[in-house]
Amino acid sequence: MTTTTGFPLRFETTPSAAARADAEREVILADPGFGKHFTDHIIAIDWSIEEGWHDARVQPYGPLQLDPAASVLHYGQEIFEGLKAYRHADGSVWAFRPERNAARLRKSAQRMALPELPDEDFVESIAQLVRTDARWVPDAPETSLYLRPFMIANESFLGVRSAHRVGYYVIASPAGAYFANGVAPVSIWLSTEYSRAGKGGTGAAKTGGNYAASLLPQEEAYANGCAQVLFLDSVEGKYIEELGGMNVVLVYRDGTLVTPQSDSILEGITRDSILQLARDRGHAVEERPVTLDEWREGVESGEIAEVFACGTAAVITPIALLKGADFSVGSEDAPAGELTMSLREELTDIQYGRRPDPHGWMTKLVD
Ligand SMILES: *Cc1c(COP(=O)(O)O)cnc(C)c1O
Repeated sequence: MTTTTGFPLRFETTPSAAARADAEREVILADPGFGKHFTDHIIAIDWSIEEGWHDARVQPYGPLQLDPAASVLHYGQEIFEGLKAYRHADGSVWAFRPERNAARLRKSAQRMALPELPDEDFVESIAQLVRTDARWVPDAPETSLYLRPFMIANESFLGVRSAHRVGYYVIASPAGAYFANGVAPVSIWLSTEYSRAGKGGTGAAKTGGNYAASLLPQEEAYANGCAQVLFLDSVEGKYIEELGGMNVVLVYRDGTLVTPQSDSILEGITRDSILQLARDRGHAVEERPVTLDEWREGVESGEIAEVFACGTAAVITPIALLKGADFSVGSEDAPAGELTMSLREELTDIQYGRRPDPHGWMTKLVD
């Protein structure tokens, strides 16, 4: 076993002997869907309490070997990230604000008592995988290579404490256009019985448990004809938090953008970027507690003109209708808002290199 001491980590590469042939890959890239197909390689880095981070490698994609007593399987000590690599018209491949994902992974690690991976090693891990599997980055409009870094407790020990052995991995999955038939506004379901996160809990960490907690209310949303769930704060059940995996933004008629501030939401990089673009255009932006009543009354009176959700996967999803057990506000066939769509276009233009990148958000990974 080779141990790398000091940073940055050096990656050893073992090429896959089972890499897909060009023809097979082309078939997948012609209709990749989302999260269904994976590239030929995976990044792995080990951590132990004695050695710190070591053995960084690019290895063939395949099942992980986990002892049945691995603590992640029992106590859920895990965190993840999600970002995309975009192919530009000249063939080069770029990541969007990867240093923000690096910082957020460290923040999630702190909350979940996992070791912090240095930011430069995080960004290098992304770059190593994208360079190795560059042929898996699709080039059709609105397609990308979705990157999923994650960290798990893999010490074989059933005692309850933070693990002394951890694994960090990155997998990559080609992603088709999220809205294949044009951006379609969605209906969302208000969960009043369930919360996704509590005060002092793990809501601000990107950890699997928050998603596990959202699945039952998500089923309730489907049963009520809605695509996503909206969660309220767990203390008063009065303030808007976010959807299961996306942040929300309200747009007032005067152009002000309002988004919830809370210790139990996940601070999206898409949200941060959109709010910056809006500020650049001269819009006022407010990050503050937002009540459900403010949303309902604002949409009913017309003071709130547009509502949208945002996250890496779909960038911006317009919200047409909010539905609860005893009310609904908005209209199922409301068209996507004008500002919603124009911010979406501006952000995706930057991501795909179709317009200048004034904030230096893009990092080139492959020439
Ligand atoms: C990842 C995530 C988001 C969106 O974050 P982005 O950085 O914009 O992709 C929002 N809410 C939750 C709960 C998330 O896990």
